[in-house]
Amino acid sequence: MENKSLLSSFFLFFKDDHYSIPQCKQKFLNLLLVYIILFMELIDRYRGCLIGGASGDALGYPVEFMSMNSIKNKYGKHGIVSYELNNGIAEISDDTQMTLFTATGILIGITRAKMRGISAKPWDYIRYSYKDWYRTQTEKYPLNGYHYSWLDDVPELFSRRAPGSTCINALASPNNGTVENPINDSKGCGGVMRIAPIGLYFGRLYEIGIADYIGAEVAALTHGHPLGYIPAAALTHIIALVTHHDCSINEAVADMRHVIGQQYHDDKYIDYFLNLTRDAVDLANDRKICDADAIKRLGEGWVAEEALAIAIFCSLRYSNDFSKAIIAAVNHNGDSDSTGSITGNIIGAYLGLSGIPDKWISNLELKGIIMEIADDLFHDCQFSEYGKEKDPEWEEKYFNCKAFRHK
Ligand SMILES: [Mg+2]
Repeated sequence: MENKSLLSSFFLFFKDDHYSIPQCKQKFLNLLLVYIILFMELIDRYRGCLIGGASGDALGYPVEFMSMNSIKNKYGKHGIVSYELNNGIAEISDDTQMTLFTATGILIGITRAKMRGISAKPWDYIRYSYKDWYRTQTEKYPLNGYHYSWLDDVPELFSRRAPGSTCINALASPNNGTVENPINDSKGCGGVMRIAPIGLYFGRLYEIGIADYIGAEVAALTHGHPLGYIPAAALTHIIALVTHHDCSINEAVADMRHVIGQQYHDDKYIDYFLNLTRDAVDLANDRKICDADAIKRLGEGWVAEEALAIAIFCSLRYSNDFSKAIIAAVNHNGDSDSTGSITGNIIGAYLGLSGIPDKWISNLELKGIIMEIADDLFHDCQFSEYGKEKDPEWEEKYFNCKAFRHK
């Protein structure tokens, strides 16, 4: 839709103008070139956000439960600085798995809305999709019976990579967690580490405050403490601004702190959250403190607000160097894959896929699936039930929701 309206405006512009035919042609070609560049830049950010998150996740996964001393003993004084490959593969963990299921949940809901003209709330479909992720962690491939997300037809996603117990328990429950009716009192980082697709998708579709709200509700499906879902709203905000509003990471974080501070002004934890994220910004600008000491002051990242604060610190300090940002993000005592993943999401959205060195991409597990999901989020469902154009493969993936064998 967006593409068509922009192209239409080109033609209206020329229709009202009084240029000669060659001048019109040149002007049109110039504008078309600008449009193509903007198009390529935006899709580069979608791909960068998801591939970047997966790269940080894969770098941090082998050291998730190791102290900094153990990491140094095993990998040397600089810690882990390149992938630890398993049979030539840099393995992603539950952070990236759930991020992909967030994306398919979004697209199942939006495709239904376009095909039927009605839909439930976005997080209802995302919950179905998370239930499908839960099945990958508790059943064997191939699944018997109905499932929603085509990702359940990808055997590699049935690998258990230290899935968070809060997510597993919440998704095993018949109850539905919301901000209004919390399913538990957890503020683990499992709610924020999977949220980047909300900023990518809804940051383009809606006013940014609505995207933040959706981010919070999606986190609250499994994490009921305010500090379990407020950081998810905050990360949604940062991703949306960096991707769709051409903001620097610094500008996006400053705006996030202002807007989230207003949105949750009556929450008793908001001052703590704002102080912690301010510390992350201050530490990123303090060149006298080393990465490890700065991260120690922000926490270990097992809980959502600390994971986000560490990611803000790393992505601000190294906003033009993807490698340095994710290396800083995983070398500490805490939840390295989640802090690596969130950092990779932010800096990947900012620099785009073209800003991520090949060494982080070539051995990355499921990189083709991750790229495909990023592209699907970008292109969106482009047809409706009554329109002439159809896309049978898209319908199979996001509408029929029957077993889809990925080619
Ligand atoms: Mg993990």
